[in-house]
Amino acid sequence: MLIGGLQKFSLLDYPGNISAIIFTQGCNFCCQFCYNPLLVLPHQSFFSKILTDKRNKFKYIGVNHSQQQKDHFKYNENDLFAFLKSRINKLDAVVITGGEPTIHKDLIEFITKIKKLNYLVKLDTNGSNPEVIKKLIDKKLLDYIAMDIKASKEKYQKVINKQIVLEKIEKSVKIIMTSNLPYEFRTTIMPEFFDQNDVFAIGELIKGADKWYLQKFKSDIELINPKLKNKESYSDQQMNEFAKIGQQYVKECKAR
Ligand code: SF4
Repeated sequence: MLIGGLQKFSLLDYPGNISAIIFTQGCNFCCQFCYNPLLVLPHQSFFSKILTDKRNKFKYIGVNHSQQQKDHFKYNENDLFAFLKSRINKLDAVVITGGEPTIHKDLIEFITKIKKLNYLVKLDTNGSNPEVIKKLIDKKLLDYIAMDIKASKEKYQKVINKQIVLEKIEKSVKIIMTSNLPYEFRTTIMPEFFDQNDVFAIGELIKGADKWYLQKFKSDIELINPKLKNKESYSDQQMNEFAKIGQQYVKECKAR
């Protein structure tokens, strides 16, 4: 597994449990608001030039890091398992996030090893690989799933800055909702790409779901699209109004 980082302790990332967070490296999306640029595009410098084409799509002129710099973002798997073994009975759970964990061919094997240590496992995913999600569920390797819904269908490609087959997102939503596992959907709310109509559109996509969290866009950190840095997010009041609309579609919708 290509591991980009490890957070050894968290009270927030697995509801009701103490967890460690493993950040896998690499992603098949390139969300404009992503605040993990070094996990998504580890070979490119984020302080290099940005090109903008006529359609206002952005792309990078990447500056290759040296091998030493690349290695800085890798975490050795043996060290990781030594750490997890040393925390048995101290931590309850492991959160696997990214990047996008499901793009890694050895994900099933990797989670199987973690489950052998008797940890609960939560997967954070962008939902682009429904087949992998289904396999993990069928093999009983997951205890909680959090899936990002990036935008309404018509804005998806623009927000993630990649071409994607939207049916895969819909398929993942269905698989997760019928999995009998605890789960949540999450949407990062960025004023540039999100208004009230999007709450209705996404609400339809996940109608009947258990939980939908609307996350405030953070702009005070390095983002994949640096042009969004320091852009304003919606006010708490506006976020709560969106959540009120979302509540019409799911059992629980909250702004956070
Ligand atoms: S799916 Fe997640 S990790 Fe990948 S680019 Fe989007 S926000 Fe970043």
